[in-house]
Amino acid sequence: MADGYQPVDSPDQTTVFPYHELTPPTTADVYEAREQVSRHLPKTPLVRSDWLSEELDADIYLKREDTLPTGAFKIRGGIALGANVDEEFREHGLIAASTGNHGQSVAYAGQKFNVPATICVPEDVNQSKVSSMETYGADIKYYGEDYDEARTRAEEMAVERQYRYVHSANEPDLVAGVGTAGLEIVEELPDVDLVFSPIGGGTCASGFCLTIGDILGSDVIGVQSAQAPAAHRAWEEGHLKPHDRMETTAEGLATRVPFAMTMDILRDKLSDFVLVDDEATLDALRDMIVRSGIIMEGACATTIAAALAHPELVRGQTVVLPVTGRNLAADKLSWLLEGR
Ligand SMILES: *Cc1c(COP(=O)(O)O)cnc(C)c1O
Repeated sequence: MADGYQPVDSPDQTTVFPYHELTPPTTADVYEAREQVSRHLPKTPLVRSDWLSEELDADIYLKREDTLPTGAFKIRGGIALGANVDEEFREHGLIAASTGNHGQSVAYAGQKFNVPATICVPEDVNQSKVSSMETYGADIKYYGEDYDEARTRAEEMAVERQYRYVHSANEPDLVAGVGTAGLEIVEELPDVDLVFSPIGGGTCASGFCLTIGDILGSDVIGVQSAQAPAAHRAWEEGHLKPHDRMETTAEGLATRVPFAMTMDILRDKLSDFVLVDDEATLDALRDMIVRSGIIMEGACATTIAAALAHPELVRGQTVVLPVTGRNLAADKLSWLLEGR
């Protein structure tokens, strides 16, 4: 490894290294990832929401990924990837770019598997997510105005210092790990007809496609903010071009660049992909706090908003809405409750 790892040709506009295997994982890989995930994390509750079920004339279940350590589903991927980190990277450690939850997942996995973790975050990052990364011992680097600028810095640092770059989507282990949530649903609620999944980088939806979609033949519908539609655009138009417009208040979905591996899976397996307006997402977020007592972040409330905006898609169906994360910034919470 004289010159270390250098980037190789990438199918999308992000940096990938020779250790990034870009072949999508299979359902069998998800079962394999579960051996690690179930050793380190509890199963999450699947709970019927009575008011949403009544409101939508459907059976609506919430998959409470917010109850996991770090408060978001991404930790499943961090565990699956962290358990398989190559010996050669253990000293320099991991690096990732994140608006928060991916960074928390990598930081948590680093601590659990004794590998140092460095996380590049944009300057205006949600501070409670940073505090959590610090709790898990990560080294935080602030850089740039948004996720993609922080990502570019992380990719440079990966070359300069030979960290193992944990891509936020082009990582089969992450997708397989995240898919374990889908396996839990398959076993507990095999008559599920439909799952709505938020889409940012696409790992969450890919995980559902490989499990609920492939095993049960249920529909997986992707949801993205109309204010940050990069993946939606790429999915509809069949390309991986960046999209300039990205103004969403849901930082968990804030990326301008579609990712190759997850887009491969989604183009093949996603049933439909809808956009919701941030205003509708904020209304849904407030409803969930007031009526269910569940605090969730905007990225996650997009699916509630999507179901409420498309009653014709859910009527009479058994539907799962994953509560993907609970890390809502305190200032947003008070702004929401005070009527915006
Ligand atoms: C990352 C994230 C998403 C989007 O997931 P992707 O796998 O990036 O598509 C949705 N909700 C929350 C809370 C997240 O942290």
